[in-house]
Amino acid sequence: MEVRTRFAPSPTGYMHIGNLRTALYEYLIAKSKGGKFILRIEDTDQERKVEGSVDVIYNTLKMTGLKHDEGPDVGGEYGPYVQSERMGMYMKYALELVEKGKAYYCFCTKERLDSLKENNEHGDAFARYDRHCLGLSKEEIEANLAAGKPFVIRQLMPREGTTSFDDAVYGTITVDNSELDDQILIKSDGFPTYNFANVVDDHTMNITHVVRGSEYLSSTPKYNLLYDAFGWTAPEYIHLPPVMRDAQHKLSKRHGDKSFEDLINEGYLVDAIVNYIALLGWSPSDNQEIFTMDELIEKFDIAGISKSPSIFDIKKLTWMNGEYFKMMDFDKYWDLAEPKLKEAVKTPGVDLKFVGELLKTRLETLNDIPSMIDFIDELPEYSTELYIHKKMKTTEEIALSSLKLTVPVLEEQTEWTNDALYERLMALAKDNGLKNGQILWPVRTALSGKPSSPGGATELAVILGKDETIKRINKGIEMLEEKLG
Ligand code: GLU
Repeated sequence: MEVRTRFAPSPTGYMHIGNLRTALYEYLIAKSKGGKFILRIEDTDQERKVEGSVDVIYNTLKMTGLKHDEGPDVGGEYGPYVQSERMGMYMKYALELVEKGKAYYCFCTKERLDSLKENNEHGDAFARYDRHCLGLSKEEIEANLAAGKPFVIRQLMPREGTTSFDDAVYGTITVDNSELDDQILIKSDGFPTYNFANVVDDHTMNITHVVRGSEYLSSTPKYNLLYDAFGWTAPEYIHLPPVMRDAQHKLSKRHGDKSFEDLINEGYLVDAIVNYIALLGWSPSDNQEIFTMDELIEKFDIAGISKSPSIFDIKKLTWMNGEYFKMMDFDKYWDLAEPKLKEAVKTPGVDLKFVGELLKTRLETLNDIPSMIDFIDELPEYSTELYIHKKMKTTEEIALSSLKLTVPVLEEQTEWTNDALYERLMALAKDNGLKNGQILWPVRTALSGKPSSPGGATELAVILGKDETIKRINKGIEMLEEKLG
C-alpha cells in the first residue's frame, strides 16, 4: 500500500517549531517509503483563523523544501484540500453511522444540556450526555426534523470495557470507555466537529500515517472508535512529545519563543533550521548530526523517535548554523552575505569579498556580520588592557615596543598583500628576538580595537589599507605611551 502522510495545520498564525517538526517528520516518513506527502488546511474553526497564516504555511513548506504532492495549491485526486471547502460531505458520513445504529440524532436544547451539567453528581465540568434522545422512535425523529427542530448527531460510544490503540512512539494507550461521552459528530449548524472532520478527511484521503502533537493522544481512542464504527482501518499514529524551552516549559510563541520566521529574520539558514529540527526528538542510529534532506530521507525511521520531550537549544542551532556556513558553496554564501556586508561597511575601497571570505568560517548567523566588522568603518574605543595576552606572551610594554617597530617597516612596505605583510612581520619578529605573537597580537589589537576579529593582524591590514593601518598603530602607540607614562 502506498504510504500517504499529511500535514494538517490549522491556520492560526505563525509556523511554530513544533508544527514544522510535525511537517518534516510527515514528509520524511512519506519520502523514505516512496510515498506521498499531502497538505490539508484545517480551517473549520473560523474564529481562530488568522489572516495570512495560510500563506505562512505555503511559504514555509516552500522554503524548507517540504514539497507537498497534493494540496490546495497543487491539487490532487482527493481534493478539496481545504476543510472549509469540504463542508458538504460530512453529513453523508454521519447519516451512514445513524443508519448503522452507531450514531443518533439528538434534539436536546442547550438549557437541558446545561441542567445536566448542573446536576452532575461529581460536580465537575464533565457531564456525560444522558442519552435522552437515543430512545426516540423513527416517527418522533421524522416529526422533529419536519418541524425544523435544531439537532446534533452524536456517536453511540461503548460504555463498558476499554478502548486501546498502539502509538508508534508512546506504545499502547488505553482509556476506560466509561469515561467517554457520546461525542457530537455534526453540530447544530450542520457542520462537523473538528474530530469528525479530521477522521473523515484522513480516511477519504487514504492517509496511512498520522504524525501530530501528543496533546491529541488522549482523544485518539475516540478517533479510533469512529474508524471502528465505520469499519475503516485506522492510520498508524505517531504522536510527538512537545518541544520544550526548558525542563518545565513548552516552547511558546506567546512567551517569546521563536517561530520559524523569527529564526529566519535572525539570520539562521533554512537548511540548518530543518537539520536541527529533525534532531528535536529523533536520533539516527549513529552519531551523525549534519544531514542534507536526502540523507534525512535515507536515514529517518519512526523507531528513532523518542517520547521524552526535547529542549530547543538555540546554542546548538547556532553552532549548526555556523557549520552550514563553513560547508556552503562560496557563491551561495556570497549571495546571502554580500547585502549584509554592503550595509555594514561604508568605507570606500574595502575588498568586501576578502572580508566575506574571512567571515565565512567564523560566522554563526548572518546577523552577526555587522558587529563582527564594525571596526572597519571606525576604530572603537578600547582599553590598552586588550594588549595583554598570556598565550601570545604580550604585555602592554611589549605591545608598545612591538608597535613602534612595525611603523617604519610598514611605511616602507610596498606590496600590501596578506602574504607579503605576513612574511615581513615574521621577519621583523625574528630580527628582534620576539615570538610571532608578540608582533601579531599588538598589531591585530591596534587595528581592530576588539578582543577578537575575523582575521589576524595582516588580514586586517589588507582590509584597512596602508594609511589607515599605520594611523591605527600610531593611535595604539599613543594610548600605550599615555598609559605607561
Ligand atoms: N489541525 C491540527 C493542528 O493544527 C492537526 C491535527 C492532526 O494532525 O490530526 O494541531
